[in-house]
Amino acid sequence: MKPVSFDYHRPASLTEALQVLAQHPETARPLAGGQSLVPMMNFRLARPALLVDLNVLQELSFVRVVSDELRIGAMTRQRTLETSGIVAEGWPLLQEATRHIGHIHIRSRGTVGGSIAHAYPSAELPVVMTALGASFVLRSAQRERIVSARDFFVDAMATVLEPGELLVEVRVPKSAPRTGWDFQEVSRRHGDFALAAVAGLLALKNDGTIDTVTLAFAGAKPHVFRRTESYGRQQPNTPVFAEIADAAAAELDMETDIHATAEYRRQASHALARRVLQRAAARAATKLAGK
Ligand SMILES: Cc1cc2nc3c(=O)[nH]c(=O)nc-3n(C[C@H](O)[C@H](O)[C@H](O)COP(=O)(O)OP(=O)(O)OC[C@H]3O[C@@H](n4cnc5c(N)ncnc54)[C@H](O)[C@@H]3O)c2cc1C
Repeated sequence: MKPVSFDYHRPASLTEALQVLAQHPETARPLAGGQSLVPMMNFRLARPALLVDLNVLQELSFVRVVSDELRIGAMTRQRTLETSGIVAEGWPLLQEATRHIGHIHIRSRGTVGGSIAHAYPSAELPVVMTALGASFVLRSAQRERIVSARDFFVDAMATVLEPGELLVEVRVPKSAPRTGWDFQEVSRRHGDFALAAVAGLLALKNDGTIDTVTLAFAGAKPHVFRRTESYGRQQPNTPVFAEIADAAAAELDMETDIHATAEYRRQASHALARRVLQRAAARAATKLAGK
């Protein structure tokens, strides 16, 4: 199918992009990598009257560290996260999760901001950003605000972004010392959207007991389910991981669709959570041992 006719504008600066969006808040739509928006337009699921193309805005394409915080411009390609030495060194969970997004040509074109703004229930970046406690800088012609990932995602494909507002930057804090991480997902074939996905962080105290546990699940409603628990003073072992996974899975609110039933998704998420906790704990123990 072909999209309905639309106007196209390619602003030369972020300021100009925000002005154009402010002039047409209800009818204009930003175009990033186009990997989700263009198919939706072709299927006529999206019918923007005006596309505001962000692709020439180099000011929105960067990966840098400021005061131990990773800052990613919204137009940074997903592939850049995958290949960045900075990300590999300080935010390996983010790099690992990015590898699961579609195929290399999707990641070469698709952007970090586009994936987050699109808020697809099975997408990897919303889940991992939630687990990592990221925050998003949102800007309109009138104001700038910073919203945590945990408040940003409202429901499947629904966020707190307002008409005329752009996601311009993603900020990801560094995890505490002695924190292990893992990301696991189930999909029918490599590159398919996940049927279930779990991102996790587990921090150990100096004595080797658990300090904090964070698990983020994809596929739940609202868009991402979060569970942050303190299991202070417990040993990181299989029965404790089972207890945490049981508690988290019991609260998951999954949906049935043509790809999988809600019950399948809940059971798969439970199994993935246990695996994530095992692997995250092993990584944390390695750090504790100073290896
Ligand atoms: C075959 C295929 C397989 C895929 N597999 C996966 C997968 O396994 N996992 C996964 O996560 N994704 C997958 N994707 C989607 C891909 O990751 C997209 O790149 C991503 O969802 C959207 O990013 P984009 O830059 O292409 O955004 P676009 O498609 O350009 O935009 C998506 C939406 O976000 C809005 N938007 C974009 N940028 C901004 C911004 N800065 N501020 C505010 N709003 C903005 C747009 O207006 C639009 O509504 C797949 C896509 C395809 C075609």
